[in-house]
Amino acid sequence: MGTRVAGRNFLFVPGPTNVPDRVLRAMVIAMEDHRSSSFPELSTGLLKGLKKVFKTTTGQIFIFPSSGTGGWEAALTNTLSPGDKVLASRFGQFSHLWIDMAQRLGYDVEIQDVEWGEGVPLERTEQALKADKEHKIKAVLACHNETATGVTSDIAGVRRVLDATKHPAMLYVDTVSSMGSIDFRMDEWGVDLAVSGSQKGFMLPAGLAFLGVSQKALAAMASAKSKRCYFDLADMIKANASGYFPYTPALPMLYGLRESLNIIEEEGLENIFHRHHYLAEGVRAAILEGWKLKLCAKAPKWYSDTVSAVVVPEGIDAARVIDIAYRRYNLALGAGLSKVAGKVFRIGHLGDLNELMLMGALAGAEMAMLDVGIKVAPGSGVGAASNYWRSHDPIPNQKASKQEQFQHARSAG
Ligand SMILES: *Cc1c(COP(=O)(O)O)cnc(C)c1O
Repeated sequence: MGTRVAGRNFLFVPGPTNVPDRVLRAMVIAMEDHRSSSFPELSTGLLKGLKKVFKTTTGQIFIFPSSGTGGWEAALTNTLSPGDKVLASRFGQFSHLWIDMAQRLGYDVEIQDVEWGEGVPLERTEQALKADKEHKIKAVLACHNETATGVTSDIAGVRRVLDATKHPAMLYVDTVSSMGSIDFRMDEWGVDLAVSGSQKGFMLPAGLAFLGVSQKALAAMASAKSKRCYFDLADMIKANASGYFPYTPALPMLYGLRESLNIIEEEGLENIFHRHHYLAEGVRAAILEGWKLKLCAKAPKWYSDTVSAVVVPEGIDAARVIDIAYRRYNLALGAGLSKVAGKVFRIGHLGDLNELMLMGALAGAEMAMLDVGIKVAPGSGVGAASNYWRSHDPIPNQKASKQEQFQHARSAG
């Protein structure tokens, strides 16, 4: 039925992302006793490694066998009581879904609706906190990287606003599509609950949720009356203390995580952030300068370094671009979700990838756009990205050495 057999499928949805071969191989293991005396070596190493990625020394890390959505639930139910007031801004499908969950769990959510294409509104957040003289707001929910629109928010700014208003609310941040790809600093930004997942920057399959929990949030558990069982941090704390889990851990995922943390350590977190920015800038050059199309993100300050949502011209259904890209060119692009369905397609540029992989995605998206009648100049996206990447370096301050290497190679060859 038209299934493509030859060559690779080009996976450019913003999660799950490409899993490096090293990680795939690390996951092919025989099962073992998760109550053995050697098991804690694995688990304690993982918790330690995750702390570095979250940039926390004072917080505690939790690993749950679930997708990121379970991490949202763990964050809310462990620290809040039904009826508690929560402040959250909504500007895309993921910020919407977390708010929807908070409402379904019985919290009183004060929603700030923001145009899709922008992020957390700092001024309005400050106003809401200022107006809350009795400190009824217990939590501020913020989506660091809204994957539906390709918008990154200023989390340090949210902390500044909390401090400026001297508001004691805890700060909860969704970092599922930013952690390990875009700079995030749990301790420095005073984040109380950071939620992440395995299938994006961590380059793993979906199946693990990661939680960074501050001491303040851990203390809040004592008075938090929301019902919780599977996601109860108290059970996890008890078992983790000796290096075990309260239930059977997903072993291949844990071994995969160990390898993914090795890879992150080898490349270096800061270098990874630079690479993501550099790759994203090339993609944006293709979209804005090459194709002369618009991003869903309204201004450069919102641009996401992990995903770009491309707005297709009026009268064109973006879903057709995605369908042709997939069936004809074996390229998976991200769909427009909810409000922007049919209006955008998304290019995920996070995780294990480089310039030439992205060139494939840009070329495929361009062909699919031409096929549905979008008048982009053939080759214009790839050309603009090429110009950007050839004149910039993935890691700053290494330009000289790279040129030296190049000249050395030329004189040697
Ligand atoms: C992927 C994602 C999630 C989690 O989704 P799951 O499918 O449950 O892993 C949450 N928030 C954001 C911003 C995401 O990109």
